[in-house]
Amino acid sequence: MSWASRRWERLLRGGAGEWARYYTARLSALKRKTNLNLASSGAQPTVVPRSGHPISRSSISANALRVLYRLKDGGYQAFLVGGSVRDLLLGLQPKDFDIATNASPDEVRALFRNCRLIGRRFRLAHVYFGNEIVEVATFRAAHQWQPEERDEDEWQPNDAAAQRVLDARGRILRDNVYGTIEEDVWRRDFTANALYYNIEDFSVWDFVGGVEDVAARRLRLIGDPVTRYHEDPVRMLRAIRFAAKLDFSIETHTETPIRELAYLLTHVPAARLFDETLKLFLSGFGVEALRLLQYYGLLEPLFPEAGELLRRRPDGAEARLLQAGLVSTDARVAADKPVTPTFLFAVLFYGPVSERARQLQQHGQPETLALLNACEETVRAQQARVSIPRRFTLPMREMFTLQPRFKRRDGKKALSLLNHPRFRAAYDLLLLRAQVGAEDAELAKWWTDVQTASAAERETMVRSSGGPAHTPGTRRPRRRRRRRRHSSTPS
Ligand code: ATP
Ligand code: MG
Repeated sequence: MSWASRRWERLLRGGAGEWARYYTARLSALKRKTNLNLASSGAQPTVVPRSGHPISRSSISANALRVLYRLKDGGYQAFLVGGSVRDLLLGLQPKDFDIATNASPDEVRALFRNCRLIGRRFRLAHVYFGNEIVEVATFRAAHQWQPEERDEDEWQPNDAAAQRVLDARGRILRDNVYGTIEEDVWRRDFTANALYYNIEDFSVWDFVGGVEDVAARRLRLIGDPVTRYHEDPVRMLRAIRFAAKLDFSIETHTETPIRELAYLLTHVPAARLFDETLKLFLSGFGVEALRLLQYYGLLEPLFPEAGELLRRRPDGAEARLLQAGLVSTDARVAADKPVTPTFLFAVLFYGPVSERARQLQQHGQPETLALLNACEETVRAQQARVSIPRRFTLPMREMFTLQPRFKRRDGKKALSLLNHPRFRAAYDLLLLRAQVGAEDAELAKWWTDVQTASAAERETMVRSSGGPAHTPGTRRPRRRRRRRRHSSTPS
């Protein structure tokens, strides 16, 4: 381990205070030595040399390195950017390695055979290496605001247009004038996400004080926060996501406007918010993300009914079930087990769905039908905010409507539930309901035990839980059903 790595590791362990002290001292020394301007005041970066940071090439993906070197050898600037530099400074394994360059998309394509340009207007290069895709973006110019009377829903991440265009609310609709690194930096969101690792000499370029902020574990928006949130309200959710994921604090100016501007999220395309929701809740820090969303008033613009219910009954069974669901999701991510949006939305909507279903039952609907209708209504009301594809809402609906069936433990039908394609998911929900006292714990235990029981044991379990059991192969004599003209009570 190099001197720099050891030093960073010590700083990481030492906590934010030590980092901040170290970096403030180190940056001022660097500035004195190189006579650079203060990072945030102009276009001059503070250049942290290889000896001053812990980023080692051995922790960068081999394919990303290949791309960086090929660009450099082609005579272009090539930098690792964004989350990967931030994560490497923190000693974390980056999710992906994004690259920024002054080569135009066509020039990038000319260098790589395994390359495709994507995006209709803002073009990005994807370089393919088997399963790994390295994304190469040409530096973008910032601050070329052009109001345009254009309709909603123009935002396409990674697919913006030939010019930066704002709508009437100041939201970015399109953004794409290629520029220099000095321009590229200003369009990025947080200082911690605006660091550039230069393949030329392995230094880190910092225009905005990002190294210091990473060291202090602090999120700070570049520029005026109110303007930046208006341009793209999703930055508020990104602040929550990074704060939760990296255990960063949100710097005061970045934090202050959030509550007041939370409503801006209602103007963001619902499909984009679906993606952001998954990133918030399914990346292993869902419990903390929920806490922060509630704290900053960001849950209700996304999930109005769930948010309102949690506020009204913060200690109710619904809130505890959501909490327990997120705890288990976080644990699964930590254990590298798969997680599914279906389960997430089931625990998020458990409150509104069960509350509405209770009302419908009071109006005489049978339980399963009430759950079905409650689910439909909840999902319909939700789509305008965070649109959830049917491939998740349909199985979620089954998770709800199967709940009443767990109460039947006698007879063949009970055991046939075990073979239902949605049994496992519904059973997981049953466990959570039992955990928070919304269902009999003994019932949940029965369904736990029956799964591991042998065929013979199952027979006994079914028999001892009340109703008549049937030996496999023998048929119960059918009861003749009389047609009823008028059904009196709903069954
Ligand atoms: P993650 O670890 O989740 O991938 P990331 O910082 O890499 O975090 P991405 O969504 O992959 O986040 O975006 C890559 C980079 O693009 C960011 O680091 C940031 O510099 C910039 N960026 C992304 N979204 C925005 C946005 N809404 N506004 C401004 N800059 C953004
Ligand atoms: Mg990323």
